[in-house]
Amino acid sequence: MRHWRMTPRWAVLVVTLLAAAVPAAAQDRTRQYLGLARATLEQPITPAELEAAVLSPAGVLAIAALFEKAIAAGVVAGGGVVTPELGGEATLYRGQLRFVEYPDALHPVIRRMLDLRTDPQALLDLLTGSVEGQQILAKTGGLHAHLFLMTTKPPTDDQRRVLDRILASAVAVHFKTWMVTPELQHAMIEQHEWRGRYVGFWHIHPPVQAVGGSMQGFEPSMEDMNVAMEKGQFLTIVFQPDGFDVYDLEPLATARQAVLSKARVIRYRSPEWEKRFGTGTPTVPGGLPAPSRP
Ligand SMILES: [Zn+2]
Repeated sequence: MRHWRMTPRWAVLVVTLLAAAVPAAAQDRTRQYLGLARATLEQPITPAELEAAVLSPAGVLAIAALFEKAIAAGVVAGGGVVTPELGGEATLYRGQLRFVEYPDALHPVIRRMLDLRTDPQALLDLLTGSVEGQQILAKTGGLHAHLFLMTTKPPTDDQRRVLDRILASAVAVHFKTWMVTPELQHAMIEQHEWRGRYVGFWHIHPPVQAVGGSMQGFEPSMEDMNVAMEKGQFLTIVFQPDGFDVYDLEPLATARQAVLSKARVIRYRSPEWEKRFGTGTPTVPGGLPAPSRP
């Protein structure tokens, strides 16, 4: 994930969430969310409880559904398929994990950018026309200047090739990774019902279509570890061809050390998973199903 100051420092949240004038239903949900903290303090989630929930049939199904959703949302850029990370916050209620997903605000804009890649003027209008677009413009090296160049005179083939390269880098930075802002977090808290105890933020590392066909997702990044150090419990769910690894990064925060070997890892492997994702070696050489959109 990309780093952003995320909130669950409960005292701060209580003030910022309850101070605003919001509709009653939204306030109820905010109170439910804040209630997770007390429930969790009274009865902390043990590693054994978390492991049982992850490895339960419902837990495995929920995680498989997240990967399927991410795979279906992949885009083609830079000569390959890029599958986005998904993320959000998770709770544990009656032994079951619930992953509430927070949509990344930049992902839809990136998707639209790729649709408009052959029309520099439309691309420029799209990006200057929204806060998210302006953010992408500001944080993608060379994009603004290059689009300006392409819209002042008829673009050359060479300029189009350069644009494709810049777009691929924008996808790598803003689409492949997931990020949540405090504003989005607040909005999502108000939209969902909250029950049980608080697990923490989570995000997935989807399959990577590497040369040689390995579909393994990346291990938690240094940035992930730094977020965990700041926030306490934090789950990174990494795709494997025959299952997944859930990295619970909470021990890093306790030890104050960003060292991956300190993470608790819950591993799941099964032939059913390989069948479901077409990642078993002998049957499907191409591996994963094609993404639903270009
Ligand atoms: Zn990550």
